[in-house]
Amino acid sequence: PQGATVAKFAELLGVAPNDVIKRLFMLGQVLTLTQSMSDDLVELIADDMGRKVRVVSPEEEYAVVYHDSEADLLPRPPVVTVMGHVDHGKTSLLDAIRHTGVVESEAGGITQHIGASVVEIDGRRITFIDTPGHEAFTAMRARGAQVTDVIVLVVAADDGVMPQTIEAINHAKAADVPIVVAVNKIDKPGANPDRVRQELTEYGVIPEEWGGKNMFVEVSAKKKLHIDDLLETILLQADVLELKANPNADASGFVIEANLDKGRGPVATVLIQRGTLKTGDVVVAGTSYGRVRALVDPRGTHVADAKPADPVEILGLSSVPTAGDEFRVFADERDARKLADERQLRERLAAQDAKAHMSLDDLFSRI
Ligand code: GDP
Ligand code: MG
Repeated sequence: PQGATVAKFAELLGVAPNDVIKRLFMLGQVLTLTQSMSDDLVELIADDMGRKVRVVSPEEEYAVVYHDSEADLLPRPPVVTVMGHVDHGKTSLLDAIRHTGVVESEAGGITQHIGASVVEIDGRRITFIDTPGHEAFTAMRARGAQVTDVIVLVVAADDGVMPQTIEAINHAKAADVPIVVAVNKIDKPGANPDRVRQELTEYGVIPEEWGGKNMFVEVSAKKKLHIDDLLETILLQADVLELKANPNADASGFVIEANLDKGRGPVATVLIQRGTLKTGDVVVAGTSYGRVRALVDPRGTHVADAKPADPVEILGLSSVPTAGDEFRVFADERDARKLADERQLRERLAAQDAKAHMSLDDLFSRI
């Protein structure tokens, strides 16, 4: 267990390095400034100096197990991500979907970009997450987080399966997320939807009508053809999954986008996975924490709360978290601050460790 070096530990705690060495010596530990302290020693010496520090391993930290009884679980909307090769029409399709799926009174009211949107069809909701950075997705998956319930794989009918198509399929398989295929650009003269079907079989994506388990819809994002079919197909796929969550609990979920807004300060768009998030709640998101000052939905409307599968902007955080970070509501503001502080400390230690290693490697590479 490599914690901080003695020097870094002293620096982070704002104490004299010699004092740390002395205390270590009294415990029978002879360490120099550049040697690493174990996590136990870090906690012990900090405690000895009247400071409470607990080094939390990522595994321990994320091992929050939620217990929901069957009766607590209520149906929730599906969360969908659109993926596919560049230029196959992901952005166009999301645009078309947003225009098809908005309820009339709200039509045209979408101006904001928060990395997610909610559409309604036949009185049912679907949450769409804009294709996030690959790293954010990978980070979430590493924590065992299932952020998306269905992947819509966009394949241009005039281009067929391309490298990023395969990448998306692999991603879906690794995350065990069902794929609905949107064969796009069927309005184009060179469109050949059957060739797309044929090519995809090679990667295990097989249409239901051919005995496989993938639903296919032929669409044109540009001409807005069959977009409602696609939405209904997504709902059919969601029905099979019987998606449920407990809305009556402290909220938790993941950061899907975050930035520093000039006027509003740190803003994080989170996806609620469990519970209900309310203004006034204390949250930790990655290394950031704070009391929720306001919640803003994808249409830019301030809302009082957000429920499972809702994407919502949080205002009031201390700093900008990273896409892929877990967020969680805390009953006690001090606990929230402590966790955020611990994570910050660990991040700085990791960064310093990386730097130390780098310079060592540098040194060797020069010899
Ligand atoms: P992305 O890179 O996957 O987000 O693809 P875009 O949505 O940016 O689309 C790439 C190009 O394909 C743009 O010029 C779109 O206008 C065009 N495009 C997207 N969907 C369709 C479609 O259904 N039919 C036609 N003819 N062009 C489309
Ligand atoms: Mg795009």
